[in-house]
Amino acid sequence: MDTTRDLLVRLEAEHELSREEWINLIDNRTNEDESYAAARARDVARGIFGDAVYLRGIVEFTNICKNDCLYCGLRRSNAGQHRYRLSPERILDCCESGYELGFRTFVLQGGEDAWFADEHMVPIVASIRERFPDCAVTLSLGERSHESYQALFDAGADRYLLRHETASADHYARLHPADMSFENRMRCLVDLREIGYQVGAGMMVGSPFQTTADLAADMLFMAEFRPQMVGMGPFIPHHATPFADRQPGTLADTLFLLSCVRLMLPNVLLPATTALGTIAPGGRERGVLAGANVIMPTLTPTENRSDYLLYDNKICITDRAETCIGCMSRCMASIGYRVVVGRGDAPGFGPHGDVSRKGN
Ligand code: SAH
Ligand code: SF4
Repeated sequence: MDTTRDLLVRLEAEHELSREEWINLIDNRTNEDESYAAARARDVARGIFGDAVYLRGIVEFTNICKNDCLYCGLRRSNAGQHRYRLSPERILDCCESGYELGFRTFVLQGGEDAWFADEHMVPIVASIRERFPDCAVTLSLGERSHESYQALFDAGADRYLLRHETASADHYARLHPADMSFENRMRCLVDLREIGYQVGAGMMVGSPFQTTADLAADMLFMAEFRPQMVGMGPFIPHHATPFADRQPGTLADTLFLLSCVRLMLPNVLLPATTALGTIAPGGRERGVLAGANVIMPTLTPTENRSDYLLYDNKICITDRAETCIGCMSRCMASIGYRVVVGRGDAPGFGPHGDVSRKGN
């Protein structure tokens, strides 16, 4: 039988493992395997992206959400949460200040807020596209119709982040209320891919009820779906949710799975998430050393940041954006990397309107 080290060697060479092999690898890996996986993942990322770590500016433009995901502090049942919604002008101002700082990718993220139906969202995307033609526009607005995704793409959005959250339907049902469905989540991801977005999937590591078999299902799903981006960070409890008393995901599990994702999908754009930086000092740096190559500092107005808390103890909620860039540049330099603010498209994708745009 293959040792866990053999499995890592094969993952790097063949980019896939079977369900049983994933379970064996995740459950039985040693500390040496973790170091080996990180070193190989780092090498693979270096071979493709050099010493670059891409910065994406994230604008958290609304914390109003119609959904009730059990893990999230923005869930509609969290009645104690003060809610905010940025005006279109304010969103553009955030992009403007990000642009001046050098950002060339804007990520608009928010709860599923009905005010941002296409009637308002399409003009916002179109204005960003018009005002910043050299920038990439990434959306992270949750589940919408095919028609809506198409309209936003046509208005100029390039990328869409929609974590699949878990590739097991049973596990999905334990993390979400009955009015949300695994089938619809998957339908959204397929629509986004079909329309031509660079698509981001992903999941939390250590979410409540997650088993090794669930993680294996996540890896198999991603191997097949081949997202251009993978958003993966530790689950962290939020005090005003039903999961308040759960344990957070661990640093070791998250780092190991980041390395595995890099070995499985070598070209993938892989953020070292804010959640990773929240569970451990230097967590994002360690993420980069384990194969991640994207960091997403916030461009959200400082006065709103403390209201965009998906989980407790989120870092960087008081710093100004320019402070974050300076801090990230120094942190990355200290581990031998260089932050770059360019568009940083997935290989095979180009600027909006580029003929190669749909050529994945
Ligand atoms: N509403 C959109 C985007 C905002 S939530 C959506 O749901 O897609 C973005 C991501 O934050 C979610 O996909 C989820 O994986 C993550 N998240 C939510 N609550 C979290 C928690 N308690 N710990 C860690 N990550 C969390
Ligand atoms: Fe809303 Fe997204 Fe939070 Fe779910 S994870 S409650 S959709 S903001």
